[in-house]
Amino acid sequence: MDQAATAIKQITIVGGGTAGWMTAAALSRLIRPLGVRITLIESDAIGTVGVGEATLPHIRFFNERLGIDEAEFMKATQATIKLGIEFRNWGRIGDSYIHPFGDFGRNVGGVDFHQFWLRAHQAGKAGRIDDYSLPIVMSEAARFGPPSHDPRSVMSAFSYAYQMDATLYAKYLRGFSEANGVVRQEGRIVDVHRDGESGDISEVELESGDRIGGDLFFDCSGFRGLLIEGALEAGYDDWSDILPCNRAVALPCETIEPPIPYTRATAHQAGWQWRIPLQHRVGNGHVYCSDYISDDEAASVLLENIDGPACGDPRFLKFLTGKRRKQWDRNVVAVGLSAGFLEPLESTSIYLIQAAITNLVELFPNSGIRDADRDEFNTVMDLEYERVRDFLVLHYHATERDDSPFWNYVRTMPIPDSLKYKMDLFRDRGVVVKYKDGLFLDASWIAVYLGQRVVPQNFAPLAGAIPEDRLGPFMDDLRGLIRRTVDALPSHDAYLRQHCPAGPDLMA
Ligand SMILES: Cc1cc2nc3c(=O)[nH]c(=O)nc-3n(C[C@H](O)[C@H](O)[C@H](O)COP(=O)(O)OP(=O)(O)OC[C@H]3O[C@@H](n4cnc5c(N)ncnc54)[C@H](O)[C@@H]3O)c2cc1C
Repeated sequence: MDQAATAIKQITIVGGGTAGWMTAAALSRLIRPLGVRITLIESDAIGTVGVGEATLPHIRFFNERLGIDEAEFMKATQATIKLGIEFRNWGRIGDSYIHPFGDFGRNVGGVDFHQFWLRAHQAGKAGRIDDYSLPIVMSEAARFGPPSHDPRSVMSAFSYAYQMDATLYAKYLRGFSEANGVVRQEGRIVDVHRDGESGDISEVELESGDRIGGDLFFDCSGFRGLLIEGALEAGYDDWSDILPCNRAVALPCETIEPPIPYTRATAHQAGWQWRIPLQHRVGNGHVYCSDYISDDEAASVLLENIDGPACGDPRFLKFLTGKRRKQWDRNVVAVGLSAGFLEPLESTSIYLIQAAITNLVELFPNSGIRDADRDEFNTVMDLEYERVRDFLVLHYHATERDDSPFWNYVRTMPIPDSLKYKMDLFRDRGVVVKYKDGLFLDASWIAVYLGQRVVPQNFAPLAGAIPEDRLGPFMDDLRGLIRRTVDALPSHDAYLRQHCPAGPDLMA
């Protein structure tokens, strides 16, 4: 049943981590002009998760929509360019491939490039599929230039994201939000009050005794889910049977070489390690499953595999992979870790924050919350989480590794039907299931399938569209064009120094 249609005049955001300040920044620009007041409550004593450095290209559109200047943002967050993720040791120990932010080759007559590549590869007329991906060749050469808006240019076939300090990003967005009228309230919330009649959240109470009300609340309180779970008990879908990693240990280190324009994810015996080069340091962390390795062992593995002197002590984090059953319940919308957590293998958390904000803005209930808006929001967010989940499970399941109990488990575990269906289609004739919206498009799936040895038995008949004698030259021309284009670009390091050099002490 719809609630009484109370016009939304006061929004209260609980939490000032990346989720809280991204929400505040977006609402201050897009919703506050409707006459809505926005307050954000955070507690310095509790602090934030403080990790989360690799992003997806969508963040650029988020920043652009807010009118944020890219160079200023990159300087403020010590950001580098991210063209994709390199996966080491996933299919087999010694394997390596890059999941790029951009297409492989170019489609011809509506036929996907990878079908031509499969045909040419079978005939011995094509090299690695990586050689036909501009962002992969750029990554390997550590070069960068911004994409072109001209669809005829080979430079239009990719996108990029950032490797950044998410704590500095939250600080930056705080300045942006406060300048746009958001009121920040420091204090620890000790109680949550509900309306006796409707059951909605009416006020939160701070340690000081102050009470702050709201018509619509955003729960950005992190894993604890203070409102969505603590007060409303929305429930949690636990996905740890198919994504069993439940711990991380993080430890940044000093930079000893120019930053590379991609993130690295190296598989270990009971999990994997991230390496995220920023301008001022390198972020490192080991994500693992506590059933198979102790915290001390996990920290040792991390320490043995960082490439510069450590900055500080290792930090341990615990999590449970899954999502909140209802991300919008009553008058509370959960955004960020309070909404769910899918481990950081494909850097999806900040994207999921952005997806929640975008969906909420589209459905914004300015004249009162309605069931239909809530249902639509929850349906879209469920789909987003499930798609990310399937893509992550693919990385673990599509492996030949049998060198540890962890890999034996993930290789043989039952997987969701939705993923099995996708893998079967690809194995048959290289068909990639298309999504209209949401994450991950064809190139992402192709990169992981082929990179982890899920190889189609055949190619689609339409791959015959290029005559036999033209196929080899077509592949060679494309590879040559990509190589020449990349060779003419500046190094990633030179690009950063010219466009967005970050001083060592900026905002730190
Ligand atoms: C190991 C790991 C690695 C990650 N890597 C990535 C990555 O590479 N890319 C990516 O996109 N994401 C990554 N993430 C996720 C990312 O860190 C989070 O999505 C992001 O930081 C958002 O966190 P948050 O704002 O939801 O929560 P938090 O950072 O936990 O913030 C919670 C806020 O709520 C406040 N709060 C809580 N309780 C109270 C209270 N009682 N009273 C007042 N205030 C309160 C806190 O003070 C804080 O301000 C990673 C996460 C983990 C665990």
